[in-house]
Amino acid sequence: MSEAEKLHRHLIGQQGSRRSLNTPALVLDLEMLDRNIAEMAAFAKAHKVNLRPHSKTHKSADIARRQIAAGALGVCCAKLGEAEALGEAGIESLHITSPVVTPQAIDRLVALNAKVKDLMVVVDHPANVEALATAAAKAGKPLTVIVDIDPGLHRTGVATPDGVVELVKKVVGLKSLKYAGVQFYCGRHQHIVDFKQRTAEIEERTEYLKVSLGKLEAAGLKPGIITGSGTGTHYIDAKLGVFTELQVGSYVFMDHDYNVCDLRGLDKPTFEQALQIDARVVSANTAGMVTVDAGLKAMATEKGPPMILQGAVEGSTTRFMGDEHLAVIAPEGKAPPGHGEQVILTPPHCDPTVNLYESYHVVKGDTLVDIWPVTARGRSR
Ligand code: PLP
Ligand code: MN
Repeated sequence: MSEAEKLHRHLIGQQGSRRSLNTPALVLDLEMLDRNIAEMAAFAKAHKVNLRPHSKTHKSADIARRQIAAGALGVCCAKLGEAEALGEAGIESLHITSPVVTPQAIDRLVALNAKVKDLMVVVDHPANVEALATAAAKAGKPLTVIVDIDPGLHRTGVATPDGVVELVKKVVGLKSLKYAGVQFYCGRHQHIVDFKQRTAEIEERTEYLKVSLGKLEAAGLKPGIITGSGTGTHYIDAKLGVFTELQVGSYVFMDHDYNVCDLRGLDKPTFEQALQIDARVVSANTAGMVTVDAGLKAMATEKGPPMILQGAVEGSTTRFMGDEHLAVIAPEGKAPPGHGEQVILTPPHCDPTVNLYESYHVVKGDTLVDIWPVTARGRSR
């Protein structure tokens, strides 16, 4: 544990009741979290695939440690800043899944490479490969790279199978770089609600990935690591058996966008909504509705208003009322929660919600058992 984390825990204290929390608060149900971690770990083990969960979801050294203790190889990071923060907190195996390109960032990258045991970073362009090789040579420690393959979304990755082979050849030809494998992340496919359609589309994309893999093998450049997948497609990807590592992120917390996806074709949720937002009724002067203290600043909003987990009658709905407020509207003929009462919400999209908070209030039932910093909060550079 870093000195900053120790100080954080000391200042905030560790015991209390969930009901006495100042609101809005980001709350993590520890038992649900641990069940989610254990479920994915058991799934990966049963399917003989490695797990390197994506820390972009939680940005937390405490949660990364729990995932690693349950069998994960290490974690993925979306950005260099996240990797720096988690490396500083003692997480030793990190894979950065977005290209690191600016000269200042490349200097930081090789500095981090000197500090942590095991660092990998994606590349998708020859100019970046050269820049990384030059910096790594100067720093005197080889840098491990993964070649990112564009699955057709055009976000990052090499655009064609021949381009993949060419870039791998370039990496292999540079002494200061170590070629470890390839990455293939189908972001859009994660959120296809219908299981059969998601399966069909992922099967088709996996055939496309296999074109690059076949060409690499033919050239004597078979990748050691084939990393990708996400919460939405982990089950399908593991059955297809092409990936050597799964980069699943959101499963630790879940959000209702993912909860409506039938992840394993079972017609019931596989993971629990461990991440919650506690709010409180601060105004109750209008018939049929009340106002709670969690508005646009309390959660990511691009997927709409939050769901209610607890504290309001079945069928109640929510509507944003500005930066700080949210309306909780009772169904016809029913009463909304009373003045001062607690309402527990589930965020529409967990990753960008977490980034709004300094800490997780970790609960077991109604008891606050710990406070964990959001270690890499705001570290998007
Ligand atoms: N890998 C990459 C490259 C990602 O961008 C993400 C999330 O956006 C993930 C893995 C994790 O995916 P999920 O949150 O769907 O589990
Ligand atoms: Mn997300």
